[in-house]
Amino acid sequence: MQLIWFRQDLRIQDHAALWHATRSGNCVALVILSPEQWQQHDDSPAKQIFYLRQLETLKSQLHQLNIPLLTKHIPLWKDVPHEMLQLCQRLGIDAVHANIEIGVNELKRDAQMQEKLEKHQIPFELYHDQTIFPVGSICNKSNQPYQVFSAFKKRCYELLSIGLPQCYPAVAKQEKIELNLESENTKISALTYMQSSASDQLQQLWPVTEDYALNILNHFVDSKIQQYQQERDFPDLNSTSRLSAYLNIGTVSIRQCLQAVFRKQNGHFHIDNAGQQTWLDELLWREFYQHILYQFPAVSKHQPFKSNTQKVQWRNAEQDLHAWQQGQTGIPIVDAGMRQMLQTGWMHNRVRMITAMFLTKNLLIDWRLGEKWFMQHLIDGNLAANNGGWQWCASTGTDAVPYFRIFNPITQSQKFDPNGDYIRTWVPELAHLDAKKIHDPYAYPQVRKLNYPRAIVDLSLSRKRAIEAFKAI
Ligand SMILES: Cc1cc2nc3c(=O)[nH]c(=O)nc-3n(C[C@H](O)[C@H](O)[C@H](O)COP(=O)(O)OP(=O)(O)OC[C@H]3O[C@@H](n4cnc5c(N)ncnc54)[C@H](O)[C@@H]3O)c2cc1C
Repeated sequence: MQLIWFRQDLRIQDHAALWHATRSGNCVALVILSPEQWQQHDDSPAKQIFYLRQLETLKSQLHQLNIPLLTKHIPLWKDVPHEMLQLCQRLGIDAVHANIEIGVNELKRDAQMQEKLEKHQIPFELYHDQTIFPVGSICNKSNQPYQVFSAFKKRCYELLSIGLPQCYPAVAKQEKIELNLESENTKISALTYMQSSASDQLQQLWPVTEDYALNILNHFVDSKIQQYQQERDFPDLNSTSRLSAYLNIGTVSIRQCLQAVFRKQNGHFHIDNAGQQTWLDELLWREFYQHILYQFPAVSKHQPFKSNTQKVQWRNAEQDLHAWQQGQTGIPIVDAGMRQMLQTGWMHNRVRMITAMFLTKNLLIDWRLGEKWFMQHLIDGNLAANNGGWQWCASTGTDAVPYFRIFNPITQSQKFDPNGDYIRTWVPELAHLDAKKIHDPYAYPQVRKLNYPRAIVDLSLSRKRAIEAFKAI
């Protein structure tokens, strides 16, 4: 009997480990539920609920294939190797199959598992699945990992032009197997936050199922990708794919995304238009940050990529941090973004950049506090992408924005939300203001009596302060 262990890959199509496991014999599937560990990783309740809801749908899909799914509560990963060995012995498992996860704790857990199982002659087979190319495989001529995105991307283009990664074939239905898993199983619905009202609200905003995620992908590629380059920076347009939450828990695979991008070219790597290329580049940013996390694991241990930026004197400013977290900074575009995230679990990429730069530069508050807050609230919270995004904005990361190129949030707002519609949606106190005043209401003497705070910081002075703080190191 083969055990297929699902982790951040809750789907049955194009699944490396599932495909390999089913070729080796009859399978039983496993998901380990570790809410205590997820909390230590700052995974947001939105993301956890999303995961558990998708898990329910995976269970019924596997049922169609006659693969029973066991869900097991093991609070902390340190206990996983021991518990897994016992489980394998009870069920008579011949081999365990799973897709590689690249976080430091995940790799450590899997290395311990491998050692433990192999002592008992149970192979633990790991497959490359989450990224386009195996992590660690994209190197420069000196066999070093790339630290600059443009060079990394160029190498990826070269490799893609040799051949796009193919999706795995569909898995066949297996013979029914007799296994009594009742005593082993933890009911998914037993996790209390599944019953919260937040769960109902998220259900409407973020439907699950593999078909739903594939429909989003197909709809995006068929009707939006052409305009992606021109429209992607405008947060009030629904012009990006909104696939991040699905990619993050593996409801859809990166290979499926790539194949969809080049479907019109019959699966050949041939760039046809700027929208297609720009979206591909975003998928490669995702790839880049995952490779960086793997090659430079210190970044996930609260270390800046550029070690000298460890010396930046960040401000200890509780009140300012709180105002930023709650969307009460008095800078409308910043507040709109922070409130969008609190209410929906998602924030538009342009606004993620604006809010992150405002925190780290104008408020000169440590990027790690912002990174943590985002993880605790995003439905698509992903260690590699979040860390990469934060370190980019804070000018502490690989290929980050230079410290003196600081976005002015008002100018950004005027440029990317010209009618103010995005602000109107998330900051209803300002909804009555016209397209000019809404970006910076108190700059207009005729605007009075707003139920909205004044800016907590002077943008011009705080910009200078940030530049000085970076110059000092
Ligand atoms: C401060 C900050 C924090 C971020 N935190 C996360 C996070 O926790 N999880 C996350 O998935 N993305 C994160 N991003 C990247 C980006 O904002 C989101 O991936 C994107 O907004 C998701 O929307 P979408 O699916 O519509 O993206 P699309 O524009 O449709 O892009 C397609 C896919 O490419 C990937 N992608 C796009 N942009 C980036 C990027 N800059 N870096 C890495 N991958 C990218 C995502 O998987 C995305 O789903 C962060 C960016 C910043 C600036």
